[in-house]
Amino acid sequence: MIKNRSLVYFFIVTILLLICFPQVALPQTISVEYICAGTDYKTPVYIIKTDYEEPVIMAIAGTHGNEKAGIEAVEYVKDNIEIIKGTLILLPRANILACVKNLRFFPPDINLNRVYPGNPQGNSVEKLAYEIFNLMKKYDIGLLLDLHESIEFYKKNPQNYGQTLVIDSDEEYLQSLSSFIVGEMNKDIVEDSNKYQVLLDPVKGSTAYSAYHQLGIPALTFETCRKLPLAFRINEHIKFLKIILLKWNMLPTES
Ligand SMILES: [Zn+2]
Repeated sequence: MIKNRSLVYFFIVTILLLICFPQVALPQTISVEYICAGTDYKTPVYIIKTDYEEPVIMAIAGTHGNEKAGIEAVEYVKDNIEIIKGTLILLPRANILACVKNLRFFPPDINLNRVYPGNPQGNSVEKLAYEIFNLMKKYDIGLLLDLHESIEFYKKNPQNYGQTLVIDSDEEYLQSLSSFIVGEMNKDIVEDSNKYQVLLDPVKGSTAYSAYHQLGIPALTFETCRKLPLAFRINEHIKFLKIILLKWNMLPTES
């Protein structure tokens, strides 16, 4: 009898929760599509949807194939994090040949991050950029996150971008968003050298520059320093993605 009563209470509470927080009842769905299908650059794009279409956030990793932390972090998010709202577009290995060969570029003389918006009639990397550019347009992305790594700390050598969050315009929205994120990231970091800073550095032809200046999509380029241990860097990329998903209310608050 007592057992039955607690079961009834359990169902009542569950139903009340579902009424009060309807998003709890809506599981995400994942589908896969491919860019550069039929070529050696064929690479999967994961589209994670909920019943609430907005916001649409896209995360790209593997633009440079030897920058592993972002790739692992995007794979982790795909496999382990459930969103409750919005749409998440994940491209974990943008230049899949560079990723497989563990090279920064492939072919070795063409930087994918300098050829945007690409060219459907151009070389293989320009065609790849063109397809990624079209992906951003097709899904009407509201925010682009491009994940990278650098061989050196920006603080040690400003030629490198390690431990920075790069924006391509000094527009107020990008400035306040990047400052907020860097503040959140730095909360858990004790050593000064490992702290992030916002860097205003528009680089023509990069994914983020093209997203912002050609499509009007706010874009952030996140860079960890490869001198730090890989496991730490992967966690940092996951943390970065989670901060954004939480800020956009795409995750339950306890995530
Ligand atoms: Zn990079």
